[in-house]
Amino acid sequence: MAWGNSEHGKWEQTDLSPSKVKTWMTCPKQFAYKYVIRAPSYAGLAMLQGSSLHDVTLEEFLQGGEQDVEALVELMELDLRERIANSDPRDYKTNKKVDVLEIENCIEQLQIWGKGLLDALKTGKDSYDNELSLRKIIEVEVEKAPLEVTLPKSGMTIRVRGFIDYIDEEGTPGDLKLASNYYKAVWTVARAMTEIQAVMYRMLLGGPGPFEYLVVDKKMNNRKQAFAPTVRKIRFDVTQRDIDRVIDTLDAFVTQTDLANGYENGFFPPIPEYAGETKADAGKNERNFCGKLCSFKEICYKENFAPPAKPSPIGDELRDKL
Ligand code: SF4
Repeated sequence: MAWGNSEHGKWEQTDLSPSKVKTWMTCPKQFAYKYVIRAPSYAGLAMLQGSSLHDVTLEEFLQGGEQDVEALVELMELDLRERIANSDPRDYKTNKKVDVLEIENCIEQLQIWGKGLLDALKTGKDSYDNELSLRKIIEVEVEKAPLEVTLPKSGMTIRVRGFIDYIDEEGTPGDLKLASNYYKAVWTVARAMTEIQAVMYRMLLGGPGPFEYLVVDKKMNNRKQAFAPTVRKIRFDVTQRDIDRVIDTLDAFVTQTDLANGYENGFFPPIPEYAGETKADAGKNERNFCGKLCSFKEICYKENFAPPAKPSPIGDELRDKL
């Protein structure tokens, strides 16, 4: 997708995409590291897998290009190897560079999940015989004209922008998700209806109406070996109430970040979420303090949570030590 090369001009600070606002909703400090301070960040392997699956499926298969599943899976592998070679993928929790075994497993996983998706799109059924009834997709990676919105409480004017993965023959927008199968992250209607993305894309298309997620569930065992994914559609309606709620969220966003003044007096508190401690990571506070997916853990821990270094002894304390 052509983020830097849009027919609608360059992205301004007041142009808001769903992912930008969602980052702030996840954690204002994460937003500040990414968009204000622009601290160095890295991608995880899962994110790179999603990008390769996404690009080959949308830009090649659904655009009417190559239709042979084996060739497309090979293309996904090449694309993923290139992304890995050109980035510095790390484990979100440990911040360590991934090793060769992790990379090879990640590629094998993508081959299995990618094939599962493409087979399901071609045959209308996933590997478990579940039906997948998609309408004909007529446009992919669609960038609609930015939508200007004057927010009622702050009075500020922003523009909603973004790329919609696909639009079907009935005009329904959709988004492809290579999604975790873990029960806390699994995609359900309950999760979909709380996504700001669906609402902002419906706003770009003129108002309330249906939205769908095309979900590829990343099935794997506890050694991270992949097996065939389930492929399914979650379709639901975005209502005017959803749009009003999101406008309220956008108002809160521009006010708290002080967007009008280039973030100068914004509030960006860290909002960590403790997600437990495994035996392997017992006592490693720098890893365990926050379980959110975030590539700024190291800097965040140092700046906001690490106990201050003990000052050197002086006076009586120093004399006692000597
Ligand atoms: S590590 Fe957690 S608290 Fe810190 S910036 Fe990231 S999400 Fe926020």
